Amino acid sequence: MKKGTEKKKPLKKEKEQKSKKEATKEADKTRKTYSVLRGMHDILPREEKYWKPLFHIAENLAEHFQFGRIETPALEEAQLFVRSLGKGTDVVEKEMYIFDISEGKVCLRPEATASVARAFVNAGMWNYPQPVKVWYFEPMFRHDRPQAGRYRQFSQVGYEIIGALDPASDAELILISYNFFKDIGLPVEVRINSIGLPDERERYKAELANYYRNKKSYLCDDCRKRLLKNPLRLLDCKENQCQPIKDEAPQIVDWLSDESKSYFMKVLEYLDELQVPYVLQPTLVRGLDYYTHTVFEIYPSVEEEKKADGESTASSAGGSSSAGAQSALGGGGRYDLLIEELSGKPTPAAGVAIGVDRTVALLKHYAEKMSFNLPKPQYDIFFAQLGDRAKGCGLKMIDDLRKSGLKIGFNLYKNSLKTQLELANDIKVPYALILGQKEVQEGTVIIRDMESGIQEIVDQKKVENILKRKLKKFDVQSK
Ligand code: AMP
Repeated sequence: MKKGTEKKKPLKKEKEQKSKKEATKEADKTRKTYSVLRGMHDILPREEKYWKPLFHIAENLAEHFQFGRIETPALEEAQLFVRSLGKGTDVVEKEMYIFDISEGKVCLRPEATASVARAFVNAGMWNYPQPVKVWYFEPMFRHDRPQAGRYRQFSQVGYEIIGALDPASDAELILISYNFFKDIGLPVEVRINSIGLPDERERYKAELANYYRNKKSYLCDDCRKRLLKNPLRLLDCKENQCQPIKDEAPQIVDWLSDESKSYFMKVLEYLDELQVPYVLQPTLVRGLDYYTHTVFEIYPSVEEEKKADGESTASSAGGSSSAGAQSALGGGGRYDLLIEELSGKPTPAAGVAIGVDRTVALLKHYAEKMSFNLPKPQYDIFFAQLGDRAKGCGLKMIDDLRKSGLKIGFNLYKNSLKTQLELANDIKVPYALILGQKEVQEGTVIIRDMESGIQEIVDQKKVENILKRKLKKFDVQSK
């Protein structure tokens, strides 16, 4: 009897194990690994060292130049962008993420100027002190063909000045963009042009189309389409076969009225005074319908790029760079008619948007080539613990010291003291706190001088003041 039961048991167990294994195998087959969508990318904690300084610089500039932060929803009525950017533009024709929902057609915003203009109209911001200056740091969405430096979700930092028709506002925006890159340490160049007012532009468009029509048989396929749909975009062409034709093309500046010309001259004068270097680029038109007068783009400095890449690759004018030096890092201009187009009171405005992902890519590229020193977080002390009780008590101590203004590095999940002290060395703190079981029981903690290795035991209640005195950063009265 006993024998029989003994034999039966392992059999049952074996069967159960087998069927469990089979079930797991089946589940594994159906379990899928999810990848990030094409053209999208995760920004991992290790990238923070690039993103964080950019955000801070953008925020500092905003504070300094008195821009208030604006956040608009990522989802908007699709028609907002169709009306603002224009039907014939690439963004509207090919790149918008559009969905049908019960309210109608909505889309993920491809850019933020139209959203900011909508918010301005909705909130009746004419009643605010003028001009209204706002900035944003938000993700944008464009369903474009992904390639290096071109994503389907990317972030832009942007500044808009609404309610001022003054060349100084154009200069202020260019100065901010220039400073943004200067503060990061990235050498850039500003390319600038004026596209005047719509009637001036229409006359120029007709002349441009006329000029190109005679040379149709020499044009690339894209340019033939552009000639029919949006002749201004002929000036964007990068194909070699079209370059000689583009070089000889009529220039928009010759179609500007005297007022438009003198407005533009004033912007350039301000830039000279501000010592912001710029390059006049007669073919720069920006792709969107809402622009008037000044348009500009920011590019990585070709000269600096050559230096960083070494002369061997210099002949490609930086085009060989992994960061894609031919791509603009930012762009902007005036949009004096947009608010009115969105049924608001006529309100002149100007803005700029800087691509953060592209800037980060370039920053990484330069960091590799030129060993850039990106700002690192500065810690005052490191906290090291030994044993379970020290963890709980330590977390409380870390939080109390944090509240008192000290910046503390720690890793509660490393048990070896040696490893923790190595971490303290890595972040270059002058002192480490060490808390073991004995110290927890006695209400004390060890302060270790990281340079000399000298340790002293102090009362937990006094540690904050002792540390602050040692660090000499804080105004502490001796107790
Ligand atoms: P735009 O107004 O289209 O010229 O965009 C302004 C800036 O945003 C550009 O100069 C780029 O730095 C950035 N940007 C635009 N489109 C993309 C994209 N698809 N992926 C990454 N960055 C982009």
